[in-house]
Amino acid sequence: MSKARTLGELRRVAPGPTESVKGEMRRNLIRKLKSGEPLFPGILGYDGSVIPRLVNALLSRHNVILLGLRGQAKSRLLRGLTSLLDPELPVLEGCEINDDPFRPLCKRCRDLVAEVGDDAPVAFLAPSDRYVEKLATPDVTIADIIGDVDPIRAARGGHDLGSELTIHYGLLPRAHRGIFALNELPDLAGRIQVGLFNILQEGDVQIKGYPVRLSLDLCLLFTANPEDYTARGKIITPLKDRIGSEIRTHYPTTVDQGVAITQQEAWTARGSQVRIPHFVREVVEGVAFAARRDKRVDSRSGVSQRLPISALENAVSNAERRAMLRNEELVVPRISDVSAALPSFTGKFELEYEGELVGAENVAQELIRRAVGGVFSVRLGAVDLRPVVAYFQAEDKLKLENDASSVDVLEQLERVPGLLDHLRHLGVGPEDPAAARAAAGEFILEGLHAQKKIGRSEDRGFEAPERASEAEANLEQLQRLRAMKGQVN
Ligand SMILES: [Zn+2]
Repeated sequence: MSKARTLGELRRVAPGPTESVKGEMRRNLIRKLKSGEPLFPGILGYDGSVIPRLVNALLSRHNVILLGLRGQAKSRLLRGLTSLLDPELPVLEGCEINDDPFRPLCKRCRDLVAEVGDDAPVAFLAPSDRYVEKLATPDVTIADIIGDVDPIRAARGGHDLGSELTIHYGLLPRAHRGIFALNELPDLAGRIQVGLFNILQEGDVQIKGYPVRLSLDLCLLFTANPEDYTARGKIITPLKDRIGSEIRTHYPTTVDQGVAITQQEAWTARGSQVRIPHFVREVVEGVAFAARRDKRVDSRSGVSQRLPISALENAVSNAERRAMLRNEELVVPRISDVSAALPSFTGKFELEYEGELVGAENVAQELIRRAVGGVFSVRLGAVDLRPVVAYFQAEDKLKLENDASSVDVLEQLERVPGLLDHLRHLGVGPEDPAAARAAAGEFILEGLHAQKKIGRSEDRGFEAPERASEAEANLEQLQRLRAMKGQVN
């Protein structure tokens, strides 16, 4: 088809006006569903929830809104829908609103076809040319979205201001015959929502009082924070009515899903040789899970998947820096590297008042500790580590500096009786490189610390449990006993 250069040549290969955008997307979707082709490559964790609903919405030829918190791959999902557009779409060459050569809407093209007929030149658009995205903010104007009269154009062309030829088209007409995605819809001012609705309902564009009729053909996609969207008065009802499907997105439901997403997104394949222990991946992911549950973190704004992604990148960088410093080939991040990635955690969540009192760094440190404790109890919960604990209770101390070489760390760990025998629970054997064994050994101590069985000083010296935490542990035990008693009675 792309060989056609004029309307006349196009007429010979194409039967006539193309179908609607939604019809085209439905046709391609059906073909993909039947052939079993992957619909949204790279979107993980939505197979049983978001994707079937989105497919149904597109089969229904609906306009869609995705409701979800930040970092739930909403934008990526919407951009992925361009894969449902045809590889090429014929348009009248030079048209600002991608006019169909067989059915031009704008005055320029109507005049052109009337004048030169089949000699009117055509061009072709790729799917990516047919996707327009805009972030709604309170300062977005009608001119941005729909259009405006352009006085300079009027003066240059010698047109009067009432002429259709003086219109500077906004984003919506420019997305004609394609996808228009508007992020954070509730932030759009009410009168712009009215304008959006008018164009959907009547195909009417009102530009500075000059009514122009443009029956635009669009697939409209929106995103919003669920609470903003459902809040009364944020969205005008008739516009809400025109959105056929509301689909809720979500964060990964299991740690494994989160690990898979982070593995796909984080930049860890670097020039250097990097080996990331699985327990480190689980801890990084566990921090995001813990933050999403923590009452001190604002749940309304959410905790983006970008938190574990950038934290893992930063932890790898810290390990990379140490390897360079110590002249080691292999880069293996440790739990202390996750703590060193604090700058990637603190900006990624909004704190409630309670959290503000403690400070973002302290909240983040605590979340890391909680995540370590969680992974530790799954992996080593059933292992008898009493000899290790006993070593520290006998007033012995051990200092594991984050920048210490793998060999130095191992030397320290060897002093603790039996500690290195337990590395196999973390998938690490005696034949593994020193950097991997050092990271696994350190994890065991961090885990015992997270469970308050051993103490740790500010400078990462492991030691006997602090008196305070002992008292805390005793209190916890007391409370458990009381609870049990309560159950008996
Ligand atoms: Zn045109």
